[in-house]
Amino acid sequence: MPAFSERRLFVIIAIDGPSGAGKGTVARTVARALQFRHIDTGAMYRAVAWLAHERGIAYDDEPALVALAREVAFDLEDGRVRIAGHDVSSAIRTSGMDLASSTVAKLPELRAVLVARQQQMGEGGRVVMEGRDIGSVVFPDADVKIFLDASPEERAKRRAADPAHTGSAIDLVAVAREIRARDARDSTRAASPLRTAPDAVVIDTTGRSIDDVVQQVLGLAAQVSPTAIRPE
Ligand code: C5P
Repeated sequence: MPAFSERRLFVIIAIDGPSGAGKGTVARTVARALQFRHIDTGAMYRAVAWLAHERGIAYDDEPALVALAREVAFDLEDGRVRIAGHDVSSAIRTSGMDLASSTVAKLPELRAVLVARQQQMGEGGRVVMEGRDIGSVVFPDADVKIFLDASPEERAKRRAADPAHTGSAIDLVAVAREIRARDARDSTRAASPLRTAPDAVVIDTTGRSIDDVVQQVLGLAAQVSPTAIRPE
């Protein structure tokens, strides 16, 4: 364990929650405000699913997916997502990839590889990492743990209005159905199901502005580490 003053420099902010709760926008905005890196781990599951499809690997072929996830280069800088040199930033935001990513995310060995890679990416600190299991599995000692949630109606509305999400159903009823099915897959899988870490702060974003939620997260970060959250 590093000395107290050193440890303060390794701040990790974990943001978990179901789809449509506002994780992406909140995590990105908090990271920008603090000049931290933003790592979207959902994009890694999506990119692996995309590349598997590209290479003709079945979504349940765990050994092949594990081999792929071990050797492949991820680049998650500047809000773009690249895997093995392909810019997949838009290609992974489709309802097909919603389903494919949550299917491969059930595989425990694949998760172990991606979790190890996420731990490596975050080990220098000054990171806002978003996903489903960041506060519970990837960084259980994260300095700030947030669990974002919102009502099912609000989450469906946001997803339907998200311009980054292409090829999705556009009527609210169908979007709500897709979201419910994915929630069920993410919450009931055996390996690291979506759950709230016991020490996470749960924030319900229903009816709240992004800025309001961002200010709350920044306030929590300032409490744990007034020095390290100062922009470099
Ligand atoms: O966050 P996003 O919706 O992009 O994630 C896509 C899928 O990846 C989720 O539905 C979930 O199955 C999986 N995922 C996960 N663990 C994470 C991040 C995402 O299982 N840390």
